[in-house]
Amino acid sequence: MIDQYFIELNFIWIGVAVVTFLALIVFKIRAPYGRHANDKWGKMIANHWGWFWMELPAFLLFPLITIFGPREKDLLTWILVGMWSLHYLNRTIIFPFRLRTRGKKMPLTIVFSALFFNGANGFLNGYWLGFLAPKDNAFSILTILGIVLFFSGMYINMGTDNRLIALRKQQGGYQIPRGWLFRYISCPNHFGEMAEWTGFAIAACSVPAWTFAIWTMCNLIPRAINHHDWYHETFEDYPKNRKAFLPKIW
Ligand code: NDP
Repeated sequence: MIDQYFIELNFIWIGVAVVTFLALIVFKIRAPYGRHANDKWGKMIANHWGWFWMELPAFLLFPLITIFGPREKDLLTWILVGMWSLHYLNRTIIFPFRLRTRGKKMPLTIVFSALFFNGANGFLNGYWLGFLAPKDNAFSILTILGIVLFFSGMYINMGTDNRLIALRKQQGGYQIPRGWLFRYISCPNHFGEMAEWTGFAIAACSVPAWTFAIWTMCNLIPRAINHHDWYHETFEDYPKNRKAFLPKIW
């Protein structure tokens, strides 16, 4: 019975993701952090602490609930915990404190909504693997493909973030990024992150992992489009043939 409620909860959460996606696209809302930051959304906190607090629930909840839940842990469970922890170690602790954006702030509204979002995703995935998943997760060719996709996405995501941080360090302020995957798309980091969580969902083969992958797309597709539009508004000579996040398509 609890499984049925749990699955329904995931479907409701997917519904919230789709509504959020439509609202962001239809009303062209630019989530006000990073290049779109502004002080119209209430009280602000330092950018890097904002990142730290909003990512912390996912970093902690998923591994803790999985590890301390009663379900016997198999190899795949440990691999999934490792993949998740690696991503969130970077996103929560390493990435925010490498940003060259001292003095920049983000609204607390963003921090609290992301904190809730990350907490929900960490809880749903942890509760599945710690309490509800079948005893032995099947290990198949799809599992391997999912793991490979996850690490390829992570490579692209971190590689892009590194290049953007270095660009800021070399020249100060915003520049047109050139070379590498920027030749095809404005936001390889968002493309990479979507690939990561799709890979995780394929490997985990669970409803909450797919829920999280769908949420990631609903967040990052509008953000990539906003960044892409911002580049065109900001730089007259921005390359015309570059797409937002999907080479040659979107
Ligand atoms: P951006 O690509 O906008 O920024 C990354 C960093 O590079 C920031 O420090 C930014 O500065 C700087 N930067 C970006 N573009 C330039 C440029 N053209 N010239 C100089 N410096 C630049 O990333 P986001 O804030 O959109 O996302 C950051 C990371 O978080 C990404 O890896 C993304 O995938 C991930 N993310 C994940 C989400 C999810 O739902 N899973 C949601 C949102 C982000 P500044 O901050 O001043 O703009």
